[in-house]
Parts: sequence; C-alpha cells; structure tokens
Amino acid sequence: MADERVERIAEFIKPLRVKPGSKVNLGKDFDPGYKADYLKKKDGVELLKTGTAMLADYQARLAAQDTHGVLVCLQALDAGGKDGTIRHVMSGVNPQGVRVSGFKVPSAEELDHDYLWRYARRLPARGEIGIFNRSHYEEVLVVRVHPENLDRQKLPKEAKGRGVWDRRYREINDWERYLSDNGFTVVKLFLNLSKEEQRIRFLKRIDRPEKNWKFSGADARERRRWDDYQKAFSEMLSATSTDWAPWYVIPADRKWFARISAGAVLAHTLIELDPKYPTVSPDTRGSCAPPSASSRPRRPRVPLPTRMLPPMPQPRKAPATRAATRTGAACRVQRTRPPR
Ligand code: ATP
Ligand code: MG
Repeated sequence: MADERVERIAEFIKPLRVKPGSKVNLGKDFDPGYKADYLKKKDGVELLKTGTAMLADYQARLAAQDTHGVLVCLQALDAGGKDGTIRHVMSGVNPQGVRVSGFKVPSAEELDHDYLWRYARRLPARGEIGIFNRSHYEEVLVVRVHPENLDRQKLPKEAKGRGVWDRRYREINDWERYLSDNGFTVVKLFLNLSKEEQRIRFLKRIDRPEKNWKFSGADARERRRWDDYQKAFSEMLSATSTDWAPWYVIPADRKWFARISAGAVLAHTLIELDPKYPTVSPDTRGSCAPPSASSRPRRPRVPLPTRMLPPMPQPRKAPATRAATRTGAACRVQRTRPPR
C-alpha cells in the first residue's frame, strides 16, 4: 500500500518538473489549467488528506532524525495562491517543526548587505521545514523587471554590468548546491496562474469586502508588466532548475489542484529523504535496564528509634569558677563569673 502511494506520487509530479538544462517557454510549455485528466475536485479532497497525513508522519521523523532540513521556496504572480497553499498543505504538520518567512521589499538594513544575506538568515535548522513565501528568486524576477531595485542595492559598479543576471543564476545555483550538499534539500514551487484567472481573482478581491485588504494598487500596476514577468520566469526556470534543486511548475488556476500538487512534491521530497526515528543504542538501553542482584545497592539502614539507643554520656559539668579550656571541652562556652 505504502509503495503504491509512493509510486503514484512520483508519477503525479513528473509532468510538473522542469527538466534541468531545458529551455522553458512558460506560456507554451506549462498549462495553468492542467488537472491531470483523471482528477475531479472531489477526488482532490481525499488525495490532499492522504498527502497531509503522510507529510505529518514524515515531518515527525525528519525532526527526530535531526540531520536534514527542507527549504520550500514558493514563487507566484500576485493572487497566485501562495498563502492558501501554505495553509492547506501544512495543515496537518506540527507547527513547531515549520518556519514560514515572507519576503517583501528589502529594508534599509537588508540593502546594506549582499543580496542573499536576508534569505540565509531565515534558513531552516536541521529537522525543520522552512517555507519561503517569496524567496531569493525575487532577486532575478521583480529586481529584473524593475531594474531600479538593483540601483537601491548599492552594488559596486563592476557588479552591476551586463552579465548580472547570469551571474546571479550561477550564484543561486551554487548556494543551493552548497545547502543540498550539507543536508538541506531545496524544493522550488512556482504557482503558475493564467492572466484570465488573475483577473477573476483580482475582481473578487475588489468586489468582496472581506477580500478588499488583499488587493493593492501595486497588484494592478504589476499586472501591466505581465509579459515581462512571463519572460523573467521562463529564463529563471531554464537557468536554475538543477539536478540538486529542480523547479516544479504548479498549475494554479484550480486552487484544489495546486494544493494537491504542492503537497505531492513536498511528500515526494520527504519520501526520497526517508528520515527515520533514531534507534536506542544497546548502551543507552542498558543504562535503563533493572539492575542485577549483585549490582543492586544495599538497602539503607533504618535508624533505630531513639528510645532503644544507649543513653548518651553526659558531659561533665565544669566548675563555674574555672575556665574549661584544658579539659577537652574547647568548644564549650567558658563561663566565668563577672568581676565583682
Ligand atoms: P499578498 O499575497 O498578501 O499580496 P505578497 O507576497 O504579494 O503577499 P506584498 O506585500 O503584497 O506581499 O508584496 C510584497 C512585494 O515585495 C512584492 O511586490 C514583491 O515583488 C516585493 N519584493 C519582494 N522581494 C523583493 C526584492 N528583493 N526587491 C524588491 N521588491 C521585492
Ligand atoms: Mg501582493
């Protein structure tokens, strides 16, 4: 049964994976409305439940083994469904083992450092799952679409030249390789939304008072740069899907399908890691075993009741006029009469 599930998950995520080294044209290669034909929404509920139960089990083992960590990078265009995906996929796991970090426009302090600094500070520890809600990939997406962001990064002149994006791709690949070599698996999910579905979601955010807060003027402005973003995403996916940290393009027009897919990729990652509960060594086991008869400590003697003890020798009374220092009673108080 377990093997069947494992195989099913591996098959399910195959078409979502960006083959390392392939050249991606997002619009042509990945359909945001894809739903693996055989799936209906009601099948999805069951699958998501299975996925979250598996995740909870694997997360507990990951924490117990305490040698590996997992970093999930979530990227999407506005209204792509990052928040909902995190909420649903992680619904069954122990919150103590998960750390979610969101990345917005960098602060003055962050701009005073190299561009990977703020991401490195939020990496998960061993045994943890870290989720980046937006990630270091913003550095080759929004920063590329709006190059004025690069100017704010106070880079030296020679670091801003024409090759800056290729250099960043290389640096990001190297950084992820370093992480993976040191026990941290990087899982990269791009929630791929169609332009039409984004329009529908924006309208809902505008129309429904309880969703108003999710909409901002910046979202509408960014939508005008749709084609630039598609190009930046295509180049980023082509350059940074690697054997050690491949990209998965998650069809995001159907929220339920996006959640199942994201859960399946994460479950697959943990299955591959296969963390195990550590076993107790014979030494540790031995230290908790009941002691043998010979090594058993002797029972402490019960003190005799005072009535049965021989009478204590009474100290001799020193004459009140003489100092008692020489009689072995140095500790006794010398009682001398006060001079008349
Ligand atoms: P929500 O779903 O709530 O809208 P969000 O992730 O879109 O969440 P916002 O506060 O709306 O959060 O937007 C954050 C903004 O920060 C985005 O427009 C994003 O492009 C921008 N941002 C993130 N990283 C960088 C960066 N390194 N440089 C410049 N802008 C960045
Ligand atoms: Mg936003």
